[in-house]
Parts: sequence; structure tokens; C-alpha cells
Amino acid sequence: MKKRQLLQSSAAIVGVACLSPYLLKKATVMTTSKSEFEINKTEEEWRKELTPEQFQVLRKHGTERAHTSPLDKQYDQGTYVCAACDLPLFTSETKFNSRTGWPSFSDPIENAIGISVDKSLFMTRVEVHCHRCGGHLGHVFNDGPAPTGKRYCMNGVSLKFIGA
Ligand code: FE
Repeated sequence: MKKRQLLQSSAAIVGVACLSPYLLKKATVMTTSKSEFEINKTEEEWRKELTPEQFQVLRKHGTERAHTSPLDKQYDQGTYVCAACDLPLFTSETKFNSRTGWPSFSDPIENAIGISVDKSLFMTRVEVHCHRCGGHLGHVFNDGPAPTGKRYCMNGVSLKFIGA
């Protein structure tokens, strides 16, 4: 091995050695936050219980195509529950027509949701998930109606409507 190659190999080994603790630490943190949810199932278990569309959105942070959910135009009185674990998330009183093509609400039921920062798709958005099972629901924006000023932009496939 030439001296230059030897130096490059050494640098690569040192680089991996320095990165390893960081990677391990990051993986540990992710595992810890997942186990904080009251309902904690494996990917295979969720795959069996959910439809392919529900699995893609709830467990893989997918987004349904706009204007495809029947719940977007649903304005009857009732409750919107998590499609994965049935936890009540929103009531019809806070639903409004955002004209985005996704079911939208100005306020969730107390303690029903959790939020995290989502930096995917070259944007920083606030991600919304079910407090009980961690299922991805959508995002929340600051351009909603009074009194909260919030727009909870939800995937209809993550919700089930229970009429009053
Ligand atoms: Fe849930």
C-alpha cells in the first residue's frame, strides 16, 4: 500500500470511529421516544391491522392526495377518532372548510395529539400525531380561523368519523 492510500484509509477509519457513538446515540433516542406511546406495536402488527393507505400515512408519514377523502366534505355533528387506535381527536365543532382538500380543524380535543418538528421535503413544518399510538395525522399551520388561529390539516385516511 502506498503512503497516500494508507493515510486515506486511516482517515476513513478515524471518521467512522468518531461517527459511531453519534449514530448509536441517535438510534437510542428514537427508540426511547417511540416507547413513550401507550400503544406500541411492531410494523408487522400495524401492517396487518391497517389498510395499505392507512399504513402508508399513519406509520410512514405519507400524505393522501388532496380532495380524495370523503371526510373533507363531512360536516355532520360527531367525533373524529384515530383510525388506528380509536382515540377521539377532533369534534365537528372545530371543523372548517380550509379549501385545501384535506379535513381541517381549528382545535384538537385536549391531550389527544402530540406534535414534533418535521424537516422533510425541504420545509420545516409542525407534524401532528395521535397521542396514544403515535400514528401520523398531518400538520398544523398558523393560518387558521379565530379563536385559535391554527389550521390542523389532517389526512382523512388517518381519521374515522363517529356521528353524534
Ligand atoms: Fe391513535
